[in-house]
Amino acid sequence: MIKKINILGFEYSVEESNFVEKEKEQDLTGEVWNTHTKININSASKSEDHKLGTLFHEIIEALNYRLEWKLSHQLVTQLESSLFQVLKCNPKFVKMFLKDENE
Ligand SMILES: [Zn+2]
Repeated sequence: MIKKINILGFEYSVEESNFVEKEKEQDLTGEVWNTHTKININSASKSEDHKLGTLFHEIIEALNYRLEWKLSHQLVTQLESSLFQVLKCNPKFVKMFLKDENE
């Protein structure tokens, strides 16, 4: 897992920790604290892909907060799963973003 991610110029630290289930209705796989520019990923997640999906979800949550999109949590989750699938299944497309570094 990466340690830092830049979201709209804000450097968020990314940490893995084992969450204690306090509230069943809460998103227990991850959480984002925008005021502390921090993302926590539950280390108990079943796979690295699951953690990556969670990180992607929290990034969308941070964008939603910073840009005041006012997206419902359902839409955040739909964006996460749909965009994650497209990126995951199209590595050649993802590599196009790194083209400058390879030249
Ligand atoms: Zn969420």
